[in-house]
Amino acid sequence: MKTKILHNPSEKDIIDYKIEEAVVGQDGEPVYEESGTRPKWTGKTYEWSIKAGENVEFPAYVADYLKQIYGFLEEGEVKEVKEEVKEAQPIEVVKTDLTPNSYKAKRLEDGQMACPFCGKVFKNQRAVALHIGVAHRDKF
Ligand SMILES: [Zn+2]
Repeated sequence: MKTKILHNPSEKDIIDYKIEEAVVGQDGEPVYEESGTRPKWTGKTYEWSIKAGENVEFPAYVADYLKQIYGFLEEGEVKEVKEEVKEAQPIEVVKTDLTPNSYKAKRLEDGQMACPFCGKVFKNQRAVALHIGVAHRDKF
């Protein structure tokens, strides 16, 4: 997520300033309400501190908020920390245990099960297991 470094050049400590946690999208930016005026909140609240003379790295939206409240804060360099993104797996592979040998039937998006050998679609895991036991007995 995007972060910003703030510098506190004043003599004033900012301690435990409460800011609600924003919902952050994959791009690291807060997700805005449909009205577009403010970020969506997760419902959690965190406390943020930056003491006199300190440099502190904050999530970008927290840094922006603190700067609105405390106009004397100075912004340092902008960093972007890349996080690893896992690829989504659209099809869940289900291992059944209804036959002595294991095999994998594909669960389709609508919840139906596809036979891994011939591709026929069945209502549920039990139905596909029965089908495999009869039609593809030679595979075991
Ligand atoms: Zn089949």
